This record gives sequence, structure tokens and C-alpha cells, in this order.
Amino acid sequence: MVEAMPLETLIELVNGWGTDPRREDGRSDQPYPSAAEIEERFGVRVGDRVLAGIADRLHPVFTTSGSTERARLVTGLLSETGVRPELHADGDLLHAGWLVQEERDTVLAAAAVALRDYLAQHDSRRLGACADRRCADVYVDTSPGGRRRFCSVTCQNRTRVAAFRNRRSAAG
Ligand SMILES: [Zn+2]
Repeated sequence: MVEAMPLETLIELVNGWGTDPRREDGRSDQPYPSAAEIEERFGVRVGDRVLAGIADRLHPVFTTSGSTERARLVTGLLSETGVRPELHADGDLLHAGWLVQEERDTVLAAAAVALRDYLAQHDSRRLGACADRRCADVYVDTSPGGRRRFCSVTCQNRTRVAAFRNRRSAAG
């Protein structure tokens, strides 16, 4: 059974395993969440290469700036995994869930379902990628104003410092 992936986990997965996020800031540490942690949370065994592949499939959903393209990408992930709605009983209570045919599609389907749920309820520009040129991490903007542009305060400060230096050297 597939359950929508918490967005926080989804972001960690994309930033921890994605090829671009890892390359841009030269990370060499062991990605978080680890394959073992993913297995524990989603009940499926996934190899490192599969996790990196999943992260790379999700990354463009955040980096694209067009809402039409974003919708197209998520729809593509949903159909590719063949995830479908189901009902299951817990005593007399019925719960809504999702199923996939192939167990290996569980993690990508959990992410696709979460993105679908989120984007159907929020401005799609709430998903984004860091504006720092040396960072490709992604984020969900949960701020009240919805004007977030950086993955972290670290990146925001680095960009501010660089802009300040540029202005100072331009001023001569
Ligand atoms: Zn960043």
C-alpha cells in the first residue's frame, strides 16, 4: 500500500539524493534519508541508484516555473507508477489509500500522490528551487507571504554577501 509521502521527507529525498543538488554544492556525505531509512518508512527495499533516480525525476517538478509544465510532470509520474485509489477496511471503518502494481514503484508513487495533493490545494509557485547560483536544492514555501527564494538562510546570506561585494566593486 502507498501513502502520500510527507512533503518534508520528499524535499529531503530530492536534496539528499538528487544529482544536481549534490553536484552543485559538492556534497560527498552519505545521502539522507538513507536507503535503510526509506525501507523502514515505506516498507520497500530500494537501492542507492533507484533513490537517486527517483530524486532526479522529482527535481524538475520544483525547478520548472510553469504551472502547466508542473501539472504535466506530476500527471506523468502518477501514470508512470500506475498508482490507483483504493479503500481498505479497519474493522467497520474504511480508509482511503493508494495501490501500485509493482512494489518498486511505491516510493515514487508516494511522492507523486503527495505532490498531487499539495498542488491541488496551493499556489503551484509554492514549490521552488534555491535562487543561489551554487545551490540546486528545492523547497516548499510555507511562509505567509509566499516569497521564499532560497532553500536555507545560509544560501540567502551567501547571495546577499555576494551582491554586496559586487555593488562595492562596481562602485570602485
Ligand atoms: Zn540553497
